[in-house]
Amino acid sequence: MTAELSTDLVRFVCPRCSQQWEHEYQVVHGETPDGEDRDYYQHHGRPVMPPFSQSGSVPCPHCGRQTVGSLAQRRYAASYAATKTSPSA
Ligand SMILES: [Zn+2]
Repeated sequence: MTAELSTDLVRFVCPRCSQQWEHEYQVVHGETPDGEDRDYYQHHGRPVMPPFSQSGSVPCPHCGRQTVGSLAQRRYAASYAATKTSPSA
């Protein structure tokens, strides 16, 4: 299985009160045994649903309205491939 790690900065804008905030998610971009692409989201080390759909929406810290996020920034971490042994001089 191949997997890439990224840190996603997700921006939320409340549709009711216009409150804006951001969360960072750790994401594993992996593949299921069936060969389907699948992203696994974690927030503070806990598995969560992707925040881009209703099932992964989070409550507005101001008014409590469930809010869907949008990707603001994605930073890829060193992939697993980078851990391969490199020749030591
Ligand atoms: Zn709100």
